[in-house]
Amino acid sequence: MTSSKVRIRDDDVLLPSSRWAEPMRRFKGFHNLVCQDTEHFIHVPAILVTEIQDFPEAIELIKAETANGRMEPQLHGLKHIDYGALSFNEVMDHLDECFQFFRGHQLPKPTIWYTPWGASQDHLHGAAEARNLRLVGTSGIIHPGVARDALNKHKNPEWWQGREIFRHWWESVGALNEFVLTYKKLTEGDNDA
Ligand SMILES: [Zn+2]
Repeated sequence: MTSSKVRIRDDDVLLPSSRWAEPMRRFKGFHNLVCQDTEHFIHVPAILVTEIQDFPEAIELIKAETANGRMEPQLHGLKHIDYGALSFNEVMDHLDECFQFFRGHQLPKPTIWYTPWGASQDHLHGAAEARNLRLVGTSGIIHPGVARDALNKHKNPEWWQGREIFRHWWESVGALNEFVLTYKKLTEGDNDA
């Protein structure tokens, strides 16, 4: 069941960067990392609707993997901007344009809005609520290194069910990879430590 899986939030899908010439390769590689344990993990890409349209291959991958239950696409924004600086009506226009994109690609309507930089002004909450979105900012986020250390220490994979680990594309994936592999090992029951 999706709700009990550990959620790996992957922001800024797909934002090109001068430091990473191949965002698609990066996205796929990261998805494969999460998919090392599909029984317990789900990849939650936070979509930038404008940027992703340059990557039809990413859209196809998201469609296929969403159908397989290995991805849960959610919303980051129409653009990577400070939504706090926009009026309520402008925000609503952006959200509606985003929904059109999701609908147009037969993707499920997003239920979470991970705002860029965690913007969480009242009018953004109002807009989210008006569109049945839950606005998630940056409070309470768990970083991969913290998750890895906690799992290594407490060996309590069940605590992580339904929780979310937040990873930024520019971070190295070592800690998260270790978390996934440790989790997998612990839940296979072959770790006596
Ligand atoms: Zn972002």
